[in-house]
Amino acid sequence: MAFLLKSAHVVDPAAGIDGVVDVKIENDRIVEVGEDLSADGAEVLDLSGKVLVPGLVDMHVHLREPGYEHKGTIESETRAAAKGGMTGVCSMPNTDPVTDNGVTIEYVKSVAEREGHCRVFPSGAMTRGLKGEIISEMGDMVAHGAVAFTDDGRGVQGAGMLRRAMDYGKMFGKVFMSHCQDEDLVGDGQVNEGVVSTRLGLLGWPAEGEEIQIARDIAVARLTGAKLHIQHISTARGLELVRAAKAEGLEVTCEATPHHMFLTEDAIGETYDTSLKVNPPLRTAEDAAAIVAGVIDGTVDAIVTDHAPHADWEKAREFELAPFGMTGIEASLALVNTNLVKTGKIDYGRMVELMSIAPRRILGVDAVSIQPGSLADITVFDPEVTWTVGADGYESKANNCGFAGTEVTGRATDVFVGGKRTLTDGVIC
Ligand SMILES: [Zn+2]
Repeated sequence: MAFLLKSAHVVDPAAGIDGVVDVKIENDRIVEVGEDLSADGAEVLDLSGKVLVPGLVDMHVHLREPGYEHKGTIESETRAAAKGGMTGVCSMPNTDPVTDNGVTIEYVKSVAEREGHCRVFPSGAMTRGLKGEIISEMGDMVAHGAVAFTDDGRGVQGAGMLRRAMDYGKMFGKVFMSHCQDEDLVGDGQVNEGVVSTRLGLLGWPAEGEEIQIARDIAVARLTGAKLHIQHISTARGLELVRAAKAEGLEVTCEATPHHMFLTEDAIGETYDTSLKVNPPLRTAEDAAAIVAGVIDGTVDAIVTDHAPHADWEKAREFELAPFGMTGIEASLALVNTNLVKTGKIDYGRMVELMSIAPRRILGVDAVSIQPGSLADITVFDPEVTWTVGADGYESKANNCGFAGTEVTGRATDVFVGGKRTLTDGVIC
């Protein structure tokens, strides 16, 4: 198949493009970029008024399969990803069975190839069963396509265990991604510890429970020379630790979610909306502002969603009993456009770095750029269209989006993965 994508505003800092040009795709590659290209039999799409960028990748997503198909499946959650403009996702290993060996990696990949609506880059568990006791089969997982190691959902509790995993696993060249949570300190914490936990009468999840492990993981990365990526960073002091590690020259990166930037603990009111129960919890307005500042100054490398689908009945329970996590992959691009680009805090070039270039670089997967020869993974969005999150339902199997009812600007219209259309005019192909 060949496509001529005409007259979109193309933004790709890696290719040095920020202007209106045509992009021609043949089979799985971009073959030509320039002004007034001729169709020569290619299907022509007029994309005037749209923005075209290298395909977005969300490097922190829970697809729930295998084992939790009542929450979401590889089919349903990659469908949600395509709707949100994503061309790829990194799947988390807290499945059942846990993705901690080559067979399960192979399973995720094969289902994704058969039923997926975007690329799936699977991560594998750092420790067997996410128990923090025995190193997982890292080499086997890498041989089968694992792109990173993480015990996401839990922090590795023992510093010695983390050291052994990094010392052994670093030979595979993959990044270690840390969910930072000291379980002894956090205990059964439900929401950020402070004024709001007191007002709500809920157990506090202190910022220090995250910051202690960020500091420790940076120290262990220094000790072992392993590449470290801090997941869903949520506190100002945690970000300060990453900033210092980068200044020191360590290979440390971090990611932030829209909910930790654009929502705060104050959003949790007397309805005890369980969609707002996330891990780490929504923090203070000062923390959220610090994360946004980190996005602007480059301390935050990637924007991710930590998309975490749950069944309605699971989230309908009392706040203490409901599981942690919200969905967000269908709204992420719009939330970033609305809150960061439209407000002038960042430009589209920086957005592309945060949502396309850096995720691929950190995961060590093929780079994508709007230039001849590159894989044709492309996201096109309408930067001006206004819509309400959740008003038309979701492609995800789940409804636990903490941004439901929020009016946003910007939405993906067309997505190509390896030259194949996955989204056309906002509709899943
Ligand atoms: Zn996590």
